[in-house]
Amino acid sequence: MAYRKPSDTEILEAIKDALQRHGVVNSQRKMTEFVLKELKRHDPDYSVSEARVRRLAIDNGLAKVEIHARESAKKTSARDCPVCGGKTVKIRNETVYGGTVTVGYKCKTCGYWTGLKQRVPTLYVFCPK
Ligand SMILES: [Zn+2]
Repeated sequence: MAYRKPSDTEILEAIKDALQRHGVVNSQRKMTEFVLKELKRHDPDYSVSEARVRRLAIDNGLAKVEIHARESAKKTSARDCPVCGGKTVKIRNETVYGGTVTVGYKCKTCGYWTGLKQRVPTLYVFCPK
């Protein structure tokens, strides 16, 4: 089967339409299905990944995305946000000795945060802005 990639603009329009039609969407899989349904009106061969829909929705401020996550056993490493690809900043706490210690990381773009053990996103809820 041939897949075709829609442009960012087409996806953004589809996200807007899907949110308008469905209101709050309580999973990323559903959100992507709704977006795909809108896209397929233009081209039945269109395909889009869940991560692309999520990132575009966040980057363009179309939706407020609530992130549900569980803590994993893996140590967190400083890196880009796993949710939106934005930069993360250290969350610091003061120690009793007057220094500071890193206790986690937070993304300024989407609000994702993690402790020193990595929080793995399990569910995204899309709320129209
Ligand atoms: Zn983020």
